[in-house]
Amino acid sequence: MRFFSLPAGLRLVPAAFAFALIALPSLLHGQATTATPGTGSATTPAAAAPTPAAQAQPAGSQTHVAHEQDTPLIEKLKHTRPIDAEATLPTHYDLLRGAYGPFRANNDLLYYHLDIRVDPEKQFVSGKNTIRFKMLKDGTRIQLDLFDSLKIDKILLGETELKYVRDDGAVFVDFPETLHSGQVVTIEFYYSGHPEETGRFGGMTFKKDPAGRVWINTACEETGASMWWPDKDQWKDEVESMDISVAVPNGLMDVSNGKFIAKTDLGDGYTRWDWHVSYGINNYDVSLNIGDYVHFGEELAEPSGAKLAMDYYVLPEDLDKAKAQFSQAKGMIEAYQHYFGEYPFIKDGYKLIQAPYSGMEHQSAVTYGNLFKNGYMGVDWTHVGINSRFDFIIIHESGHEWFGNSITAQDMSDMWIHEGWTTYLETLYVEYRWGHDDALKYMGGLKPKVANLRPIVAERGVNAEPTEDQYFKGALMINTLRSVVGNDAKWWALLHDFYQHFKYQNIMTEDVVAWWNLHTGMNLTPIFDQYLRHAHIPQLELLFGEKPGMVMYKWDADEDAFAMPVKVGAPGKWETIHPTTKWQWMQTPLSKDDFQVATDLYYVDVNKQ
Ligand SMILES: [Zn+2]
Repeated sequence: MRFFSLPAGLRLVPAAFAFALIALPSLLHGQATTATPGTGSATTPAAAAPTPAAQAQPAGSQTHVAHEQDTPLIEKLKHTRPIDAEATLPTHYDLLRGAYGPFRANNDLLYYHLDIRVDPEKQFVSGKNTIRFKMLKDGTRIQLDLFDSLKIDKILLGETELKYVRDDGAVFVDFPETLHSGQVVTIEFYYSGHPEETGRFGGMTFKKDPAGRVWINTACEETGASMWWPDKDQWKDEVESMDISVAVPNGLMDVSNGKFIAKTDLGDGYTRWDWHVSYGINNYDVSLNIGDYVHFGEELAEPSGAKLAMDYYVLPEDLDKAKAQFSQAKGMIEAYQHYFGEYPFIKDGYKLIQAPYSGMEHQSAVTYGNLFKNGYMGVDWTHVGINSRFDFIIIHESGHEWFGNSITAQDMSDMWIHEGWTTYLETLYVEYRWGHDDALKYMGGLKPKVANLRPIVAERGVNAEPTEDQYFKGALMINTLRSVVGNDAKWWALLHDFYQHFKYQNIMTEDVVAWWNLHTGMNLTPIFDQYLRHAHIPQLELLFGEKPGMVMYKWDADEDAFAMPVKVGAPGKWETIHPTTKWQWMQTPLSKDDFQVATDLYYVDVNKQ
């Protein structure tokens, strides 16, 4: 997902699109000054300090200064569950939605067939989801989810109508006889109602396009798919394949995920559009896009010899603009394939579908609302002159096909696996197109957006979403990891193998860290933990004498075992040192002012004294 707001003065968009922009926290300007970590920070240098007067000040003397422009972020944080002692308790709803409870864990999803009718006039949805799952344990109950605002018409096991208990969005379905471990069960979940427009993306919106025609879209990543259809609404378990059938009034088209199978005139003024998804898919990726779309397309020859269908659906009046702007899509796919391997969903194809919000990574059906302009909503929002060279939404949202859709986090808490990696993919796209220097420049533009107020990995099992730092800090951490590996040929091989190892899997941060430890032979756990599980980034403490000749150094970090090489000295003549959280020293001919740290290669703070 990408849905950051623009600075207030830049929010002006054509009136037709005004409805698409929901006010969101402004981006931060200027890097936040953060307090240095408390633990391990007050160690004074050994007696061999160059000058006693220059002893390191205990860290913690800096404080975060809340600038006026931070306010929107602070507002946002109120809505993001903090991990600290002042954390608000999860609600009953959060626990039911966020936990992988016993009635979720006792079964494994195999298949959905979402088969619904959408009435634009009544803003009404009705139909059923056929749900097939395999029991992993004996049991008589499973947990599904559907927002309380929608009505359950009936739940059938064959001819038998099943009993159920609704509890704050959860639907506990009870079976008359024990289902046994290994048993494959198919139920039909009938429902109907008016989906509430809710959440940052609207959930399910019944809008009109700029020409006044019906335009109905879904986007529900944070809110959850159960706001518009019944499913097992969590991130850990996915179906293995899915069919999506959507009946809409004649003359309208529904574009959903997967491969287009057929359209059938139902003879009652409605036409059903059938789509088939041949892969696992996150619930929130399932999407409807109903409108008066026109279609154009192309094919990409894959290295394997396969042909990737690339299909585009836009409003008729935007066809020419779309043909020009979407010409970036092929180059994007080629760039990501270069680093990670083939597009993950070749059987389903790749689609871009115009939608009335900025964009969302709906699997094989990326929705697009970036005004057919480069940058983000026409703005170079990283302010370093790179972003205006490409369409931010095409590059970002499509990157999620590899990280987010193919590799998925098991809990929203670990969503940096989607957003940190995909933001890093943006920088890879820049590197592929324009070289490493521009990639570093682009990366530098991410730094002012990092708040460092909370850890990136949020609380697990309680429906908690991480802060925006998961994007920028996540990407900057991965770039730091490249420098730690210290060998680009090795780095490219590791990146490729990492993706290939975990593709089509749902994983957690621990899986990522264990893989990198195993394949680099390094203990990277303290590095990952410092960046992901603490608010602050590591700070390199440098202690100079009165004359050049010697500098003492150590990391100030929350992780006692934090140890990370870093390049220091003078650009072009960098020297790699291996600081830990204990003081060491090195000789240098450079003065305090001339002594530099390669902060474009390592995302660290530096404190010279
Ligand atoms: Zn994203």
